Amino acid sequence: MQDYRAPIEDMRFVLTELAGLDRISTLAGYEDATPDLVDAILEEAAKLAGNVLSPINQSGDLQKARFENGVVRTPDGFAGAYRQFVDGGWNALPFDPEYGGQGLPWLVAAPLTEMWNSANMAFALCPLLTQGAVELLQTHGSKSQKDQYLAKLIAGEWTGTMNLTEPQAGTDVGAVKTRAQPEGDHYRITGQKIYITYGEHDFTDNIIHMVLARTPGAPAGPKGISLFVVPKFLLDENGKPAKHNDLRCVSIEHKLGINGSPTCVMAYGDHEGAIGYLIGEENRGLEYMFTMMNNARLTVGIQGIAIAERAYQQARAFAFERVQSKEIDKPGGGAAAIIKHPDVRRMLASMKCQVEAARALAYRASAELDLAKRAPEESARQGHQVDGIDLLTPLVKAWSTDLGVEIASTGVQVHGGMGFIEETGAAQHYRDARITPIYEGTNGIQALDLVGRKILRYQGETARRFCARVIDEVAALKGSENVTATARSVGEATKILEQATDWLVETGSRDLRKAAASATPYLRLFATVAGGWQMAIAAARAESKLASSDGDPVFMAAKVKTAAFYADTVLPQCSGLMVSATKGADSTLAFTDEEL
Ligand SMILES: Cc1cc2nc3c(=O)[nH]c(=O)nc-3n(C[C@H](O)[C@H](O)[C@H](O)COP(=O)(O)OP(=O)(O)OC[C@H]3O[C@@H](n4cnc5c(N)ncnc54)[C@H](O)[C@@H]3O)c2cc1C
Repeated sequence: MQDYRAPIEDMRFVLTELAGLDRISTLAGYEDATPDLVDAILEEAAKLAGNVLSPINQSGDLQKARFENGVVRTPDGFAGAYRQFVDGGWNALPFDPEYGGQGLPWLVAAPLTEMWNSANMAFALCPLLTQGAVELLQTHGSKSQKDQYLAKLIAGEWTGTMNLTEPQAGTDVGAVKTRAQPEGDHYRITGQKIYITYGEHDFTDNIIHMVLARTPGAPAGPKGISLFVVPKFLLDENGKPAKHNDLRCVSIEHKLGINGSPTCVMAYGDHEGAIGYLIGEENRGLEYMFTMMNNARLTVGIQGIAIAERAYQQARAFAFERVQSKEIDKPGGGAAAIIKHPDVRRMLASMKCQVEAARALAYRASAELDLAKRAPEESARQGHQVDGIDLLTPLVKAWSTDLGVEIASTGVQVHGGMGFIEETGAAQHYRDARITPIYEGTNGIQALDLVGRKILRYQGETARRFCARVIDEVAALKGSENVTATARSVGEATKILEQATDWLVETGSRDLRKAAASATPYLRLFATVAGGWQMAIAAARAESKLASSDGDPVFMAAKVKTAAFYADTVLPQCSGLMVSATKGADSTLAFTDEEL
């Protein structure tokens, strides 16, 4: 497998030129996130990702997580890498300094999340799940729960898990059957959870499970679900892991990808019932889960970008090495490296432009998350919440993960037959990427979230404000004909999005099934425009830096061309997506069950 080198230059460009790091570092509590510090963080993280996590990616896939005599063993090197990860303080980066966190912005966490997942997604899932547990406790835990668990989770001494899914409760989390019987100051939890990422492992001496369950007499459906913290080892009076709780990993799944990570079937309460502690109030568990959902969905979106980046690096390196056929216009020449063939160049450019567009949008969304939490005025916070993070999250989650799969597939194609066999590692990226459109809310559910909660709920006003802003911003971009042509294409695509939104709002007011049938192509259209918006701005910034000899001229020139390639090959899809979303909804609903 090709080595991984973090694309620090593009990360830095996106942070400073597109996502507004300078503005984020003026927010209260984020003053330390200066460009110099962030640069140093990126450099150090790149070393860990490239030198420690990446070298055990392919071996982890081959060896896989194993379940032996009731014990889960992660692949060789994973536990040691985890130790280095937490010893370096990487687990603590975006969390509350009161409990040992470093209090850095989510915008700074975004490139690091990308690096860990590019280097080794199976490994990176463990801290990703811990992050969810930390956020839940930070936001909804009692003082004593925070005191007991937060410092250890933030330091990475213990890890966290999310236990939502059960055999009959996947997308429909409201169908959860696990029971929680009150008993004094705690509850007894009984039930089975499936697909629990890092539900059991050999990294740490305790695992803190966040478990959804129903209390006796709770209302049916989503409004009757409560959230519990259920430690693997119960804590003694000194806060140390002591008695083993009544929970265990029953087995681990055999999967298509992310084979280094254990995906566990968990049994709670084989005997007297696992002891769990209620978080917040009864029946509000799903509501609490939603408070961390934006963040988790953003992170999974970044996983998609991470795999796409890795697949691109791998394909690019291969294209320089693999010699095959003469160049089409040099019949007298010798065999050339495949990078010389226009179709291979097309594949690489398509991978590159979509990775960069998706990265820009995801980091921009992370900045919106910081602004929604910390902008000085309440009205500004509200604006960044509704028009920023709420609107962008389903786009980032669904688009970036769909792109992750598509780009990893193109990566296999660049390799030819070598991509289909396992040796090069290209196939692993494709297999690993495939889970990302499924978990943390399938991409179909992201599209429904966008259409229902983010567009129709506001009669389309959020989308219209977005379109107006993009049209204004790209119209104001200055530069060469290359840059202004890109900006014009984005403006035209945005008008298509406006029309699609009008159609959606009108249709949604009378035919929800039709609106739902249009949701996935509508999301793709929206995200394609949003990616174009960022690429057009990137092109203008890069061109002006080129003119003032600021930064690497090759990088800046490539950015302008990458944006133009996006405008010429990706944005034209918008008119097709418009037809898919509108007429396609009718065609979708025309089938009877028998005909499908
Ligand atoms: C490797 C892996 C790791 C995971 N990690 C965790 C974890 O740590 N914790 C955890 O709790 N869960 C975890 N999951 C579970 C994951 O979140 C679920 O698989 C996911 O939510 C989908 O649920 P499901 O598999 O039951 O699919 P279903 O809900 O059965 O969905 C099947 C299909 O139907 C569609 N569908 C369902 N309902 C609707 C609807 N209303 N409208 C339109 N389409 C719909 C879906 O989009 C999908 O295409 C993991 C899963 C895997 C495979």
